[in-house]
Amino acid sequence: MEKREKLYEGKAKIIYATDEPDKVIAHYKDAATAFDAVKKATIKGKGVLNNTIASFFFQMLNERGIPTHFIKKLSDREMLIYRVEIIPVEVVVRNIAAGSIVKRLGIPKNTKFEPPLVEFYLKNDELHDPIICEQHIYAMNLAKPEEVAQMKELALKVNEILKEFMEKQGVILVDFKLEFGRKDGKILLADEISPDTCRFWDAKTGESLDKDRFRFDLGDLIEGYKKILEKIEKNQ
Ligand code: 5GP
Repeated sequence: MEKREKLYEGKAKIIYATDEPDKVIAHYKDAATAFDAVKKATIKGKGVLNNTIASFFFQMLNERGIPTHFIKKLSDREMLIYRVEIIPVEVVVRNIAAGSIVKRLGIPKNTKFEPPLVEFYLKNDELHDPIICEQHIYAMNLAKPEEVAQMKELALKVNEILKEFMEKQGVILVDFKLEFGRKDGKILLADEISPDTCRFWDAKTGESLDKDRFRFDLGDLIEGYKKILEKIEKNQ
């Protein structure tokens, strides 16, 4: 398999073509951004940690029957994935109130959501990823009802798998964001699952072990991400 031209560069990853039309390479960068890239930094080693953590989670989900774009980890910073057409809807699952829902709706931080909440956001940086409802998805023709039903079902299954697994590592899965893509008429879990896209709290201390460290200056980002990696690596 040969690495070819750059296809797309996002805030945290670069996508390269390969000599196989249905496979691409995701390269994880050291860039950290928050608040629509108003806050930016280069954090040495972040890309390696996220590629390693995301590869672990995707592999685990593949093994548990969740269809994902992940094929294999290629190197420290790169994974081989299926080329998909990304659906421009971010799916957020929340087990505990934190972040934007606390600000937007005034729900007290730490409120437990049983069953978990599933929310949709429009993936559009210029509009600051606004929250949307299912009807907006259909009105804007972003996805079909069967696709939305699948995304919801998959998001809740991912939540069950990750929440249970992280609980065993002494980590609370507070919330996370997923993106999905289409390949050959099927929906695959795409993008990344890492401390950049999940809120992880240490069950004993309540310490944030995720991107909130960068967003709100809660401590060294690498230290938090390394703690997540160390905990999950014990299970390899
Ligand atoms: P909130 O809506 O509270 O800001 O985010 C909820 C969860 O989804 C958090 O775990 C957060 O990291 C993740 N999330 C939501 N939107 C984005 C996004 O645009 N980029 C990243 N990396 N994570 C997001």
